[in-house]
Amino acid sequence: MRYISTRGDSANPPNKSFTDILLGGLAPDGGLYLPESYPQITRAELDQWRELSYADLAFAVLSKFIDDIPAADLKALVDKTYTAAVYCNGRDAGKANEITPIRWLEPGLGLLELSNGPTLAFKDMAMQLLGNLFEYVLEKRGEEINILGATSGDTGSAAEYAMRGKRRLRVFMLSPYGKMSAFQRAQMYSLQDANIFNIAVRGMFDDAQDIVKAVSNDHAFKARYRIGAVNSINWARIAAQVVYYVKAYFAATRCNDEQVTFAVPSGNFGNICAGHIARMMGLPIGRLVMATNENDVLDEFFRSGIYRPRGTAETLPTSSPSMDISKASNFERFVFDLVGRDPAVIRELWARVDAGGSFDLSKTPCFANLPQFGFVSGRSTHADRLATIRRTFAKYGVMVDTHTADGLKVALENRTPEMPMVVLETALPAKFEETIVEALGLQPERPAAMQGIENLPQRVEVMEISVGAVKTFIEQHASI
Ligand SMILES: *Cc1c(COP(=O)(O)O)cnc(C)c1O
Repeated sequence: MRYISTRGDSANPPNKSFTDILLGGLAPDGGLYLPESYPQITRAELDQWRELSYADLAFAVLSKFIDDIPAADLKALVDKTYTAAVYCNGRDAGKANEITPIRWLEPGLGLLELSNGPTLAFKDMAMQLLGNLFEYVLEKRGEEINILGATSGDTGSAAEYAMRGKRRLRVFMLSPYGKMSAFQRAQMYSLQDANIFNIAVRGMFDDAQDIVKAVSNDHAFKARYRIGAVNSINWARIAAQVVYYVKAYFAATRCNDEQVTFAVPSGNFGNICAGHIARMMGLPIGRLVMATNENDVLDEFFRSGIYRPRGTAETLPTSSPSMDISKASNFERFVFDLVGRDPAVIRELWARVDAGGSFDLSKTPCFANLPQFGFVSGRSTHADRLATIRRTFAKYGVMVDTHTADGLKVALENRTPEMPMVVLETALPAKFEETIVEALGLQPERPAAMQGIENLPQRVEVMEISVGAVKTFIEQHASI
């Protein structure tokens, strides 16, 4: 399997393998990596895969994307990643071996539990695999890496729990000082592993993000200290996320003639991009329902054909904070398919986006093709979120988190009788206690392992908004 760039020169493609692109972020031309063509899932494979365990299915699916890691090694990495011991934070301990069980609210309406991993959000599903892949590839190549990132909550903790204790890599994670919930702070700052460094910046998330960009743009520093990233454009994260759509398809159907609709709470378009790819591979997905919160840049595109990234000042802080985005970093992958995989078109569209502008596909033939990709979309507000959390608790006795509530709200608007609707549960309510209390007047349950984590000793370096200070800290703590 060779990988190309969405902005590449098609006459002279980058021609990279999976492990070539694993440790990198953007392609050198500024585009995103994708397989040169989507591998197909045959009918015979669907028949054979139906009864597989999560780990065996993950191995089967990932083998289609990864051909430069020996099969036995890949199998061992996947087995180590997808075991019940890692996904035991669910409310139904007996189902931990299913890794991603579906909780049926009523016939034809289910929640796909993706948040039973160590940080209680779906990002663990891919990040845990990334941690094991990184360690393996670095060992093979005799290399080391220093991962630098900025987080407003979920991504940073998922990355730290996936990379803690791993050989040949260190994580430097910037977070906005005092801006995360006490629980989120405790999750990250209580890690005592020697290869994890938390840096709290006296500023907002954007200040932390700007420092990461400035450090990464210092090419000499980046090369000397082997600075890497685990951000949401990483191809391996998308590939790992394809697996749970396949698993959920089998769980929601009895035979391979049936179709399923998936509803996905979306921010950077990574999770639903994996659904799109599963559908392009031939998984019988009827429709993909994309839900945004008040930051509705994606909903606007699917309704109007206009993609207009917002300025950071226009981005609203909401009660589903992991979906508060100004532009959707993975969206370019979908548009590449929508415009017939023409990199020249992507270069032109993103020249406008990168200059702070927008584009309008509404009058183009490719936008007329949108229905064949199966997408429908909608948005949800704080009031919708509260109402959905209340209704779901009253009707089914199930607490959903604020992001899952956004997905569920839009799912209910788009339900059709002929297909089961599976809503991706992207976090456990325990992560967003404040809004749950506002909606229900009740504290959400916490997994036993996380009770009282706010009282654990914390390990964090507090810094002013200073690129120089962060670089000095990396120089002192990275081994090169
Ligand atoms: C990251 C995240 C999302 C958004 O996922 P994308 O892949 O960025 O679209 C939704 N909900 C939760 C809880 C998240 O952590």
